[in-house]
This record gives sequence, structure tokens and C-alpha cells, in this order.
Amino acid sequence: MTESEKPVVVRFAPSPTGNIHIGNARTALFNWLFAKKSGGDFVLRFDDTDRQRSTTGFAEGIERDLRWLGVEPDRIEWQSRRFPAYDAAALKLKDAGLLYPCYETGEELERKRKLRLARRLPPVYGRDALKLSDEDKASYEAEGRQPHWRFLLPNFESDPFDTRRTEIHWDDIVRGPQTVDLASMSDPVLVRGDGTYLYTLPSVVDDIDMGVSHIIRGDDHVTNTGAQIALFQALGADAPAFGHHNLLTTAGGEGLSKRSNALSIASLRETGIEPMAVNSLAVLIGTSHSVEAVPSMEALQEIFTPVMASKSAAKFDPLELGALNRALVHETPYDRVAGRLADMGVDEVRAEAFWLAVRGNLDVVEDARHWWGVVRNGPAGDAVLEEGDVAYVREAFALLPAEPWGADTWATWTSAVKQASGRKGRALFMPLRIALTGSRSGPELADLLPLIGREGTLARRP
Ligand code: GLU
Repeated sequence: MTESEKPVVVRFAPSPTGNIHIGNARTALFNWLFAKKSGGDFVLRFDDTDRQRSTTGFAEGIERDLRWLGVEPDRIEWQSRRFPAYDAAALKLKDAGLLYPCYETGEELERKRKLRLARRLPPVYGRDALKLSDEDKASYEAEGRQPHWRFLLPNFESDPFDTRRTEIHWDDIVRGPQTVDLASMSDPVLVRGDGTYLYTLPSVVDDIDMGVSHIIRGDDHVTNTGAQIALFQALGADAPAFGHHNLLTTAGGEGLSKRSNALSIASLRETGIEPMAVNSLAVLIGTSHSVEAVPSMEALQEIFTPVMASKSAAKFDPLELGALNRALVHETPYDRVAGRLADMGVDEVRAEAFWLAVRGNLDVVEDARHWWGVVRNGPAGDAVLEEGDVAYVREAFALLPAEPWGADTWATWTSAVKQASGRKGRALFMPLRIALTGSRSGPELADLLPLIGREGTLARRP
């Protein structure tokens, strides 16, 4: 099968050791948008080989957060259920002499590293373990040392101690052509002394077995890619395509962490931010496209292309989310919020007119609850009529037009009030606004008045 015939399969592979944040969402969205643009599949893969730190609670939270954002996995996989596949791959590599046991402790490795530096050699692992005889190994094991296992990188011709420049090239779908030299790195440890797997081998085995065609992830993984491509080849597979996007940092330039909850997707959801505000910022920040409120995933798909990501880290400012959210809410059509308005108790007959009247004044959709209370029950702010305005408002209320009320009622009423009172501008409107809503600002009174109705308005007479 040629590259172009291969079905598109991507994966988002978080370890379920915390809540995902907006930076993780960026990776998930890059994958999801890429897959959906090309009719491909999105696999949610839990990298949960670390049984100590992974929990099903975090995994459920990640899945819930993704679905809330609108990222619906086509498949969900768990590495913890696939150990036999990793064991088989490890065995295959051992049999081929490509995975070899090493017995050095951390201190010994550090000492060797310093020695190499002193001798002006690159500080990579010198493959001393390849020189161990069976007796050496047996005596280490008799001492109680368990080996860790390294993958022999293909950076030599016939003698592994005579490494030579071995370039691995890939055309990164975000960053363009990339080159790494396998001779510049240490043979990576794939299996720890306690027999547990580091991330590299399970990830590559899964990417092969799950038919992953494109690996899209943060650029903190660029340096892993050379060894991973070599590992794909050692396991008899073609490496997929790779794309490494820039990472998001806090305004102070620090990396985001799954353990700091402040910018988690769950915490953003709790503040009432819309998923598309999060998606718009998570995808567009740090790209060649301006950050704007994109109303739907379909629209975001239209804009998105992997190459739009810039090469340097992008600072993420949570305040931008507030502005994007306002912009989205102000344009949100009624049918998108009908269910939520019904949940707030907004009656169906008035709901659409109510939404169109108030949306332009909301920071978050939930703020509509306040305005529905104003329409239904009366003034709910903390503004009070000044003493000198009470008589004026009473006089104005006496001039309320007869029903039916509609879009013109406010204009009809206030021009009658203007004539009778001689007031105009702020002096005319503000006392009426305060009497009707209890606030000095808010939605257009022309829109609110027919919703409140004549009876509801008269009930507000001071
Ligand atoms: N579990 C890895 C991580 O979260 C996945 C990296 C990858 O996508 O290859 O960093």
C-alpha cells in the first residue's frame, strides 16, 4: 500500500495521571482536526503502563473532557491491557540481538558519562554492557542486580563500538524536513530493571498494531523520533508520518503540567466557558492564523492545517478565553442554547426572544439565569432609584401603553414619557431601567419590555 492509500489513523496518547489542560487539548485537537479533515479515525490511547500513577478516574475524566470539547474518539485503547504484545516485541528484539541487558547503576552511568566528557567523547552510553560475558552477567545477577534493557541503535556498520553518523530524515507535517543523527544519542532504555516498560516500546508497538498513520504530538518529542523510527524498522514496520507542534506555556513562560489543575479543561468547564472558546484558543494560539472565536468544529476544520503552527512556544493567557467566550456567546443562535435555557426554567414561548435580547450582555451562558430572574420576578440588581426619581417613575408608569406589546412599545412609551415629563436622555431612561431591572446596565429595554409584559411591568411600580 502506498503512503497515500493508507487510511488516516491518529492517536492522542495521554497517560492518565492527572487532568488534561489546554496544552493537551491542543495535541488532541490537532490530531482530531487532522483526522476528520481526511475522513480518518481518532484513537484515544491511554498510556497507562505506569500502574502506580495512572488511575481509571483520571482516564474517565480525560474522556469526559474530550467529549465536552467535541472530540469524539472512534476507538479507545489501554496500554495496560496489551502487555503480552510488548513482551512479544521485546522478545523479538532480544532474539535479534537488538535489545541487550545492562547492569550499571545510576551512579555508575554518571561516572562513565563524566569520564567520556573528560576524554572529549560525546556523553552517550558507550555500550560497555555489550562486552559482558555470560559469567559477568551471572555474577551481577547473583549480586541481586536486575538488568535494564537497551535498544541497539543502528548507527554502526559492523562494529557497535565504531559508531558513525547515521542520519534519520523525516518530513514533519508541522515543522518540515527534519534530520537527527543516531550516532549522537545513547541506546535508549526500553525496559527498566524491575521489568516495567518505558514509554518508547509500548508506544511503537501500539502505533504499528493500531495502524497509526500519523503521529501528531508536542515538539518535546522531536528528539525521541529518531530512535522511534529506528525501532519501527527493527520491528519490521514502516514508520508513520510525524508532526510536532509547538507547546503552550503559561504567561510566565512555564510549561503546563497535568498536575496543576488551574488550567485544566475541567476547571474551565466549571467557570462556564464554552468548549468552542477553549478549542479556538487551543488550536489558533501560536499559529499563523489570528486567534478568533470560531463557532463550530466544522468551521475550525476549515481553518486548520498542521503547518499553521509556529516553531516557538506559545504563551497562553487565560484572560483571552473570557474575551473569546463573550464573542461566541454574543453570536450564539438560539437553537444551540435552547436546552440549557429550558434547564434554567426559561419558558419556551418567550425563550428565543429572551435569548436574542440578553445574549449580547452575557460573559457566560449561565449569566442568562440572572436576566431570566429579572424578566420573571422583578429587579434583581443592587441599583436603587434615587429619591427624586420615584415620583417621575410613578408618573411614567401611568403612561404605559395598552396591550398588545411588541417591538415598538418601548419607543411609544418613552416618547409619551418624554412629552409629559420634559426629561430626555439619561435622566429619562436610567430611572426606568433601574425600576425595571435593578441594574444600571443590561440588555436593551426595548427588547426586555415585551418580555416582562404590562402586568409584570406594573408590578415594578415604585
Ligand atoms: N504518553 C505520551 C505523552 O503523553 C505520548 C507521546 C506520543 O504521542 O508519542 O507524552
